[in-house]
Amino acid sequence: MADDRRITMPSEAELQAAIDSLKKSKPELGVLRVCAMLRESNPTWQLGEKRVRKFMSTMGLIQTDPSSANTTGKAAETVPKSFLAPGDFVRTVGKGQVEVKYINGTKGKGVFAVGDFAEKTQVFEETPFAWYPRWDTVSNTYHTKGNDECQLCARTIHRSGYSARDLLRPVKCNRCSAWFCSNVCRKEADARFHQIECAKSNPHFAPLAQACLEWSWGAPMAAARAIERVLLEFEQSAERGKLAWESIKAFATVRADVMDKRRKGASWFLYEQDYEHKWATTHELMKRALCPPPDACGLTQFDRIPKKIFNEMFSYNEWLGLIGKYSLNDQNGGFYLLQSCFNHSCDPNCVVMHPNDGMYRAIIKTLRPIKAGEEMLISYVNPRDNLAARQQALREWYMFDCNCGRCQKEVAAVAGSA
Ligand SMILES: [Zn+2]
Ligand SMILES: [Zn+2]
Ligand SMILES: [Zn+2]
Repeated sequence: MADDRRITMPSEAELQAAIDSLKKSKPELGVLRVCAMLRESNPTWQLGEKRVRKFMSTMGLIQTDPSSANTTGKAAETVPKSFLAPGDFVRTVGKGQVEVKYINGTKGKGVFAVGDFAEKTQVFEETPFAWYPRWDTVSNTYHTKGNDECQLCARTIHRSGYSARDLLRPVKCNRCSAWFCSNVCRKEADARFHQIECAKSNPHFAPLAQACLEWSWGAPMAAARAIERVLLEFEQSAERGKLAWESIKAFATVRADVMDKRRKGASWFLYEQDYEHKWATTHELMKRALCPPPDACGLTQFDRIPKKIFNEMFSYNEWLGLIGKYSLNDQNGGFYLLQSCFNHSCDPNCVVMHPNDGMYRAIIKTLRPIKAGEEMLISYVNPRDNLAARQQALREWYMFDCNCGRCQKEVAAVAGSA
């Protein structure tokens, strides 16, 4: 009997809607799985793997494998590329009130309101995936001895004047001299990085911190903490580890060397040697401390890391990628999975703040009423700056030309008065 179901070619819109909903529930799916699942749920579609791959790549949904990029001689990306972070690695309060969606290949992802918001309301609160305090916000002992500020949230530690019943009673690591403002911070720090950084267990970590301190350079410390977080997630389970690595990959990326070369332009030759020395030195020091961490750190599942992730994670290419990611995504020293998905506007409807008791947690607040479905935007630069200053800062540090409503209006006004 003839099958009267007609084989049809799905339109771009149909394909996009289907891929979007698949990736929303299972962001980790690759091309082959997406293709198989699309065919299964749409048996009448004529669907080639090539079309799906092409489509997903223009939507920014597939990560190009850096090793294959190298062998084909393709130059490293000069525009920031970002991906949807998989699963629920984002630990936030109020996360369900927003959703992260793909907009298009140029804009990448963006954050959208699920419901209506009044002005000046808190949308959500988020703790960073990995964080290292800004150099100028902590004392030098934070980096070397770890005893004047909480190693997790960088709040100042007052070691005396607490009673046994105080919730925020400072506690010391029971192995090294690091202090934490509370037991909660101590536990969280252990689970995210301190088990690996602890000076008593890992004497190889201090040289990295020392080099960064000398250069007043926080990026490698935050990058190392991101790797430490992944290693510690692998301790919990292979799934969590993979997800953590995918989450890191999801941040907008431009390799540090590509970015700095562009930033410095014709004067790059003045910086090149110095920068390369610093990248290579910190990469070596990071590997000495983390690949693998000494036995005393107590990691038992290091071998569980798949070869492909392992090679990638500790490669020099990825180190430059991580440092570039930090440059693009750094919010007060941290990699925030959800906050980093916000796009920029010079006339933003939201703002990122850090509660007055520390810089670790980030909260997003609305600046004006926002309707359900509207994109939520923050300003990456000081919105009080004039057009030229904003455009220059965005081009230099975030590598794009702003074309927001306010910029368009101001450009038109300048053209009109000329
Ligand atoms: Zn703390
Ligand atoms: Zn310790
Ligand atoms: Zn603008």
